[in-house]
Amino acid sequence: MTNDTPDWIRLHKALAVEAEHGFTDLMGKQYRFSEFLSLTFGKFPTILPAIERRRWQELAGQFVNYPHLVLEERQHLVAETRRYLYQLQKEPGSSTSTTSATLSTSSLSGRGAGEQKRNYQSQVKNPTSPMVAEVSKRLAPKIDQKLSDLPEIGIRKADKLAVLNLYTVRDLLFYYPRDHIDYARQVNIRELQAGETVTIVATVKRCNCFTSPKNQKLSILELILKDNTGQIKISRFSAGARFTSRAWQESLKRRYPVGSILAACGLVKGSKYGLTLDNPELEVLANPGDAIESLTIGRVVPIYALTEGVMASMVRQAVTTVLPAAVHLKDPLPKGLREKYGLMELKDAIANIHFPDDSATLQVARRRLVFDEFFYLQLGLLQRQQQARQIQTSAILAPKGQLIEKFYEILPFQLTNAQQRVLNDILNDLQKSAPMNRLVQGDVGSGKTVVAVIAILAAIQSGYQAALMAPTEVLAEQHYRKLVSWFNLLHLPVELLTGSTKAAKRREIHSQLETGELPLLVGTHALIQDTVNFQQLGLVVIDEQHRFGVKQRALLQQKGEQPHVLTMTATPIPRTLALTIHGDMNVSQIDELPPGRQKIQTTMLTGQQRTQAYDLIRREVAQGRQVYVVLPLVEESEKLDLRSAVEEHQKLQESIFPDFQVGLLHGRMSSADKDETITKFRDRETQILVSTTVVEVGVDVPNATVMLIENAERFGLSQLHQLRGRVGRGAAQSYCLLMSSTRSPDAQQRLKVLEQSQDGFFISEMDMRFRGPGEVLGTRQSGVPDFTLASLVEDEEILLLARQAAEKVIEIDVTLERWTLMKAELKYRYERLMGGAILT
Ligand code: ADP
Ligand code: MG
Repeated sequence: MTNDTPDWIRLHKALAVEAEHGFTDLMGKQYRFSEFLSLTFGKFPTILPAIERRRWQELAGQFVNYPHLVLEERQHLVAETRRYLYQLQKEPGSSTSTTSATLSTSSLSGRGAGEQKRNYQSQVKNPTSPMVAEVSKRLAPKIDQKLSDLPEIGIRKADKLAVLNLYTVRDLLFYYPRDHIDYARQVNIRELQAGETVTIVATVKRCNCFTSPKNQKLSILELILKDNTGQIKISRFSAGARFTSRAWQESLKRRYPVGSILAACGLVKGSKYGLTLDNPELEVLANPGDAIESLTIGRVVPIYALTEGVMASMVRQAVTTVLPAAVHLKDPLPKGLREKYGLMELKDAIANIHFPDDSATLQVARRRLVFDEFFYLQLGLLQRQQQARQIQTSAILAPKGQLIEKFYEILPFQLTNAQQRVLNDILNDLQKSAPMNRLVQGDVGSGKTVVAVIAILAAIQSGYQAALMAPTEVLAEQHYRKLVSWFNLLHLPVELLTGSTKAAKRREIHSQLETGELPLLVGTHALIQDTVNFQQLGLVVIDEQHRFGVKQRALLQQKGEQPHVLTMTATPIPRTLALTIHGDMNVSQIDELPPGRQKIQTTMLTGQQRTQAYDLIRREVAQGRQVYVVLPLVEESEKLDLRSAVEEHQKLQESIFPDFQVGLLHGRMSSADKDETITKFRDRETQILVSTTVVEVGVDVPNATVMLIENAERFGLSQLHQLRGRVGRGAAQSYCLLMSSTRSPDAQQRLKVLEQSQDGFFISEMDMRFRGPGEVLGTRQSGVPDFTLASLVEDEEILLLARQAAEKVIEIDVTLERWTLMKAELKYRYERLMGGAILT
């Protein structure tokens, strides 16, 4: 790739987002959609052939004009552009595909539908034998055929399908429905009973979409539905500023015109206004005047994700048209493997995922396709892992030796079994000629640091240097302090390097690293600056690894020649998620706490019970203990957060606890001020520390016994668990108070999990169930692939089987040469999955 290449992903993404938002010429961070597109097309890559350059210039001009187009024109231009880009990337420059149906890119500039049709027919009219000629009348479309070439679909509908990224028969076959409605569960409105999950089929009598009078960021869609037996009002809510735009609300209304026939599926519940369906699935079965399609009668009907201007009936018709092509699908999974894991054959699975004979068959089909989604991802990850193992490291580290033995002597405690097990994993890795790539997961306080220190000593006693990187200065300093006390007894030097290290000290450290006299450096991001050079770096330890980007980890790694890498995280994630995002790493778990730890007493309190909380704080402080008060991020604005922290601090200091010293810590403070605040707290000059979530990682004050969390419902469970881990670090009984006035049963249930459990793995599992895998990781750049069908919550069993199958395959032949279809499928899928993960 050169700089000359356009950013395809951004381009596609921009087009997709514009389509999703109803062609409103969205404002991006920097440009409007139309501006971005015209700019991008204006700078065509020089590698483009002349004819394509002209096309790009043309497009640049068309997008300049975009704001002046009416909706249909905008829609058409976007669809055409997407189709064009798609083809350009697939077959740059020319159309060399073997099917006669292939469109050349120039077809976009206006080849008529008639010609499309002739093209398609000429293909079926040139059969190779009379018998085939007979059959060919009913010949199924080919897998790679363009949708616009199929007479039943035609260019107009193909344009609309292109909005959904559907261009070929294959695309449509693999466009799995997001749900099905089982008409066996269909009931009349009069017969509805609260607590049942049902489907009703009724006519839209009224449809309205408006912004909630109580909440400017909430959009409400309200429908009155009527069948022969009665009527019902149902509502759907969309939260978020972008849903309250007039354009969006109007576009939603257009989806449910009065008189159309709608299927609504969901849980019946009682409300002030009588029975309703709780956040139902809605599906337009037929528009006013249509006859009800036979497709929807008497069977399990697929529901597809749709978008503005694309009707459910149209997608279903299109799928019906291409479905016969499924017979051409060759199954990349060998028969033996399918039989071993009880998998339906691909072509049957595809046929049944769309139009299943019954619910049971649907499940079997789904199982196969979910297996595929997991299988190819695991295959890709394992292949990458194998390739990494081909890399050689020169750092072979001795697992036994004087330093480690001396360390055991000075250690005031015995390692737990879990620590010992994980340590063995690590020491094993260190003796191999391939660099270690291991993640240690362990709850707060499970003792990860000690384990890391032993690995570090293995490196030092083998003549190598080591580096320990932490995400914040507070945490780096804490590690440093602990390490100094141990390393002094071992007569080993260790230094700390952070953003606040003075220039003279920094120069000294740099030179000691280069000569090799400094065996261990602890620090923050400052470690990865290019002025830092090690003489011989053998081991890199990264604490709280999820706080670093891939790039930062890579930079540290490059400080040595293929050093071993040990990453640690105190935010355990569920096994399914770990396999999905860390499938190419080795993962060890410290799933046991050192003995003698007390349970932290955790209680949910409402606003009215606030005095109880303050009483407890008063009592604890009177006994010489200390207290954290943590406030959530209220808004995406640091200013507001700051204000809430400042106000809370003032309130507590002046009105509630004037007799105590209350400190304040927030993200906007300079690191010197932060340090000072934390030092004061550690030295017990302040008894109460009001803080935003910056205390989440690292701060270690064993004398603190109370953690009060305001608006606890705004945090994820794993994050709350992390915060709770700031107390209970000493011998005294500790308390975690979750303040929350939410009435949402969902939020209350979520918080209950914390009252009941102290097990980080269990908590993260529940967090994933409540909020979904992406949220558990807490960052947008989480890298959870976009599965279409598979669920990390529901499909653990299938994931484990798929992993096992992939391991077997890789073991037999890591190149996959003997399974050409599988290899090709892997390439196709893996690229798409990874592409998706980068985007989200
Ligand atoms: P974390 O996993 O959160 O990084 P640390 O490594 O900071 O945990 O350990 C938490 C505390 O427990 C430290 O004070 C450490 O010295 C202590 N510790 C670690 N392992 C043991 C053990 N096996 N027995 C008793 N105390 C331990
Ligand atoms: Mg730690």
